[in-house]
Amino acid sequence: MIKIGSSFMSLGPSNPPRSSRPPDNLEREESQLWRWALGFMILLAFALSGLLWERLENIPYSLRAIPIGILGLSILFAVYAYGRRREVSELKGLLHGLQEHVGAAPSEEQLDQLSQVILRSQRNFKELIDSFDDPACAVSLDGTLRTVNKRITDITGKSYSELIGRKIYDFVDEPTQANLETSLGWFLEKKRWAGTVQVRLKDRGRPFYFECVLNGIVKGDEIVGVSVLGRDVTEQREKEMRFTELFETLQEGVYFSTPEGHLLDANPALVGMLGYTEKRDLLAVEPAALNFDPGQPVLGRAVNDRGGVRTREVKLRRKDGTAAFFLDSSRAVWDASGNIIRYQGTLVDITEKRKMERQLAQQEEFRSRLLESFPDLILVVDLGERYTFVSSRSRDVLGYEPQQMLGKKISDMEDHSPEMAALYHDVVSGKQAFASSEYGARHRDGSWRTMRAAGSKLVDAEGTISGVIISVRDITVERKLEQQIVQSERLAAMGAMIGGVAHELNNPLTSIMGVSELLQDTETNETSRKQLAMLQQQARRAAEIVQNLTYFSRPPAPGKSRINLVEVVERTLNLHAYSLRKNNITVDFLKDRAVPYALGDPHQLMQVFLNLILNAEHAIREVRDKGTLRIRLGRDADSVWVSFHDDGPGIAKENIASIFDPFYTTKRPGRGTGLGLSICKSVLKEHNGSIEAVNSPEGGAVFTVTLPVSPMG
Ligand code: ADP
Repeated sequence: MIKIGSSFMSLGPSNPPRSSRPPDNLEREESQLWRWALGFMILLAFALSGLLWERLENIPYSLRAIPIGILGLSILFAVYAYGRRREVSELKGLLHGLQEHVGAAPSEEQLDQLSQVILRSQRNFKELIDSFDDPACAVSLDGTLRTVNKRITDITGKSYSELIGRKIYDFVDEPTQANLETSLGWFLEKKRWAGTVQVRLKDRGRPFYFECVLNGIVKGDEIVGVSVLGRDVTEQREKEMRFTELFETLQEGVYFSTPEGHLLDANPALVGMLGYTEKRDLLAVEPAALNFDPGQPVLGRAVNDRGGVRTREVKLRRKDGTAAFFLDSSRAVWDASGNIIRYQGTLVDITEKRKMERQLAQQEEFRSRLLESFPDLILVVDLGERYTFVSSRSRDVLGYEPQQMLGKKISDMEDHSPEMAALYHDVVSGKQAFASSEYGARHRDGSWRTMRAAGSKLVDAEGTISGVIISVRDITVERKLEQQIVQSERLAAMGAMIGGVAHELNNPLTSIMGVSELLQDTETNETSRKQLAMLQQQARRAAEIVQNLTYFSRPPAPGKSRINLVEVVERTLNLHAYSLRKNNITVDFLKDRAVPYALGDPHQLMQVFLNLILNAEHAIREVRDKGTLRIRLGRDADSVWVSFHDDGPGIAKENIASIFDPFYTTKRPGRGTGLGLSICKSVLKEHNGSIEAVNSPEGGAVFTVTLPVSPMG
């Protein structure tokens, strides 16, 4: 590069060769030329001997061009080599001539010859430097452009003649004249300089960057000019600058570290993140001191360094000693022999994020505890009708574990309530902003419960509906209590009414019975007597029913008395006879009169038996339209028992433990209160007796009531 610059200037018109011997480079050029020519000729000879002329006839027509082309090329090369050699030998001869006549003035002819050779060489040289992709020029010390190559004319947009002879400052703003003049003194001393120069052309905003080699052009012992050969590194420099800018301005921390974890470089963001003001202070920190957790691998390093970019969380120590959490995305850089030379990576400060996550987790914990402590079951259903949140109250309210419901659709759940699905759809469709509904729902244990659900829409941060939040409350007990009150009020009213009616009927019936008896005595006609007897019999039956009604409706007797169980059961059956008949239920009652008297309240026991008869009737009706109720009595040591055995479906195994619980019912809401058996149980407890239920091996349920034997016998 340097050689080109200096020889270039030394071939200029004002610098004829002055050496006392023919220049070495001419000799070299000549011998090199001949070496090339010789080499080429040998190659040609080989090529020709390879392809014998006789065989040329035999090769395909399209391939004949190859040897002919080779021959043509070698002739052209020979002509060129001949021309160059002639040029060189002419110059050599001339120099010899000049040398021989040192001191004597060259002849006209010699001068003419010399200038022609020089002109030709100059032309050749110009072609040579024009063929460079890099800019090259020669400048005299006062800044005048002596020669420029084509690349410079391309860059400046000026022609060769516009540039030559003009000052460099006429075309460039930077480096400034003052700059150049200051550097000149230093350059004259060193004679050579290499480095990157920022050049800003006039009327051109964007600067160029050239990696330049400057050599002094020496004339005698003094420097008369500077040859400049540059390489355009603008693109590379711009890339570097962009990278530097990115490095400096990036919000994320960027680092380079040694395989041992020593920081080699860190961008300002990282310096700040770790609480330092000076980069050098951070770079001086030992890797072990930077790591907050001693077990954690040093920055950048990972267990598996063979992988590409890896991302992990690191805990680093800030300057003030506090911990900071970062997301480290780093990779190892390898040299050609496979050794790690450094790590490079980015660090994103996630301390705040971690803090927020912790807060969020706390809030989440609070929220879930709040929801769990809520007496209602809380459900969140998304737009796809799937449960996305189920509070643990689901265990009690529906009998499902939350996990069994999560992710399932409302309609996927066994025994799902259509009313709740309707409530969900009302809210999702926007028909109602807030909807509530009361419905009967089947618990997983088979019991029916009354639920009250309220739903409202759940909106996301953008205000769009993302689902429905539903709270479900089991109001079975509440409802049953209400029903119980209503029922007991109704029963009391009915009792009073029945009592009144019975009382009113009693007198007319007594009259009918008395009069019909009297008439029987006086009547002589046999047919009329029979009719009167029938009338009296029916009136007695009616009076009996009325008496049973008063017995039932009378307020419970305060004390217990000696009672005949056969009689009490009979009275109860009589009361319910119509319904049993209507439902085709045959009563098989074995009236064992030998059974001792029991101690109890006949009214309360009638209620117990009526309840058992009613339940048996319901159970039979559930499966068929006729059946049998078998009633038996017996005694055990000092107790008497009555059993009611129906031929219904029996009691489901899973329900048998609960049927005596208050409000436990398997009947649809409105059909059963679940109170019957619990009342029976409490009545019998008061009587020091018991009631139990079993399934008979022959089928159907058997309810057995046991009472103490009356001490009065
Ligand atoms: P309710 O009749 O209002 O349901 P009960 O306390 O009288 O309330 O009965 C509770 C439950 O016991 C009934 O729902 C039913 O499942 C069961 N049960 C009672 N009697 C019978 C029977 N004879 N056969 C089958 N199941 C019965």
